[in-house]
Amino acid sequence: MSFQNPVFIPGPTNIPDAIRKACDIPTLDHRSPAFARLFRPAVAGVRRVLNMDGGEVVILPSTGTGGWEAAITNTLSPGDCVLAARFGMFSHRWIDLCQRHGLDVQIIETPWGQGAPLQAIEAALKADTAGRIKAVLATHNETATGVRSDIAGIRRAMDAAGHGAMLFVDGVSSIGSMPFEMAAWGVDIAVAGSQKGFMLPAGLAILGLSDKALAAMETARLPRTFFDFRDMLKSYAAGGYPYTPAVGLIAGLARSIELLEDEGLTNVYARHARLAEGVRRAVAAWGMRPCAASPDLYSDTVTAVLVPQGCNGTDLVKLAADKYGVAFGVGLGEVAGKVFRIGHLGMLTDVMVLSGLATAEMCMADLGWSVRLGSGVAAAQDFYRGSAHGVALAAE
Ligand SMILES: *Cc1c(COP(=O)(O)O)cnc(C)c1O
Repeated sequence: MSFQNPVFIPGPTNIPDAIRKACDIPTLDHRSPAFARLFRPAVAGVRRVLNMDGGEVVILPSTGTGGWEAAITNTLSPGDCVLAARFGMFSHRWIDLCQRHGLDVQIIETPWGQGAPLQAIEAALKADTAGRIKAVLATHNETATGVRSDIAGIRRAMDAAGHGAMLFVDGVSSIGSMPFEMAAWGVDIAVAGSQKGFMLPAGLAILGLSDKALAAMETARLPRTFFDFRDMLKSYAAGGYPYTPAVGLIAGLARSIELLEDEGLTNVYARHARLAEGVRRAVAAWGMRPCAASPDLYSDTVTAVLVPQGCNGTDLVKLAADKYGVAFGVGLGEVAGKVFRIGHLGMLTDVMVLSGLATAEMCMADLGWSVRLGSGVAAAQDFYRGSAHGVALAAE
């Protein structure tokens, strides 16, 4: 008997059966045309999900973190300056990675719960009259706090400053679940991973590169071999790969994009927005609030719930796992213990989310927190009943 519950962590996400089956393929020769037939649709699909215009897609056997490393090592040189705001664990870890590569990171410290500070970014770029800043790093969806930043706004700030830096965006927990407009936002590198919006196992870093990023690749001097985009792109041109690709995952990626496009990307994004709103209604009914400081910052893929004084969010996550076999996310870094996180991205329906909310309530009651069983569930039910979207995904 299997007692597999859905997970409510913000990645890895639940894997649809159709994708599990698609990953399960016999060995094939990755130097044969059979691989190119499988690979090309995946690359073309990523291009559509990212809304690219020109540029190239690179798919590496790695994870999102490797995607960050590939982005910087392929475009920058030792000592180069990059500008980044720090407002959560993931923006922090990207900064740390840059520092370990010998980059000079100009950090804008920003309270956790806030998003990318547009005015401070514009001011920093305006002050950089010597043009030292080569890239602006932005975390589209800060998974630690459940905050979505305004990437179009960052592009406007860069343009207003008249600065020529590149714009690199971590979209690991947004791409495939929330609208992403690589061309319209003037993004030079977008980084995604396979195990969040794409609903695959971990194992692929998925990147979109603009023509400007491709030009930077020619002069960048940070060392790279496994992640060298030049090797990847030369091999792609011949339908191949510079080393052994993760063939099963790439087959799964093509299937994932089919599922997303069968539902329709705008419907996928609308579903995530609805699921998230239901979760937030439940949080309000519990008398709690999201870590994200204001509604314009609310993430559609993860809600970090601030727990009441005297309560510890990590206790809830532990109890949910031990007693009910359900996974929520713990608070990370500065908000450890202060929040627990509900992931609501990927293959999820209203009914699945309701089960997660019900489980969270049972844990709160078990821990002696003051919450009325059913209060959050009822608030979410009311919202979902009024905006039901059909069962296209559930029937898959
Ligand atoms: C998950 C995540 C990462 C890290 O990705 P890995 O695949 O675990 O290496 C980076 N950034 C954000 C915003 C994430 O949510």
